[in-house]
Amino acid sequence: MLVGLTGGIGSGKTAAADYFAELGIDVVDADLASRAVVEPSKPALAKISEHFGPDILLSDGALDRAKLRSLVFSDSSQRKWLQSLLHPLINDHLQAQIAASTSPYCLLVNPLLLESGQGQWCDEIVVVDVPETMQIERTMARDDNSRSQVESIMAAQMTREARREKASKVITNDLDLGSLYKQVETLHRELLQK
Ligand code: ATP
Repeated sequence: MLVGLTGGIGSGKTAAADYFAELGIDVVDADLASRAVVEPSKPALAKISEHFGPDILLSDGALDRAKLRSLVFSDSSQRKWLQSLLHPLINDHLQAQIAASTSPYCLLVNPLLLESGQGQWCDEIVVVDVPETMQIERTMARDDNSRSQVESIMAAQMTREARREKASKVITNDLDLGSLYKQVETLHRELLQK
């Protein structure tokens, strides 16, 4: 069984996923997959540097992710080019990890689970839900980002309401971490019964 876990920036996906992992569940992380497919040894990185020029690489040969992000942020045709290169590779990488999972169910974590179409792979969609003010406060405290940086990322993500509408289970993360873990434990027990 595949369980998708999503939520906006700073909602608590990582905190929840880490606890699922402690309970013995295999966690597959889409953010890590998106980094893995552009590692220096991977063919995608050569294609990216052919397309954007060698300046897109750092001096150690790794991808300059910040530069790439700013290039595609302002240019939708470049963004489409990049997405059509990377999305199939990321999906293959994730599918291989999911297939290798041996825990009673596997957890797929992606802030863009619903936007990416990966939600359709999942038997359950778990949304970590928090009030927007809390998302902003927690992300600012974690990343040392400005309020406007966090707000612009939130503006590019699905709204809280839209995400909740697609959820089959909701974890409400507006109290302390103890309350989050308790909800994860309850949900874990429910999922084990399926
Ligand atoms: P992103 O999408 O940016 O990766 P995320 O959804 O994975 O974010 P986390 O990194 O898990 O979010 O949480 C954001 C910050 O809020 C972290 O510093 C985390 O420790 C903290 N946090 C999460 N849940 C709680 C909570 N219930 N009480 C206090 N702090 C929390």
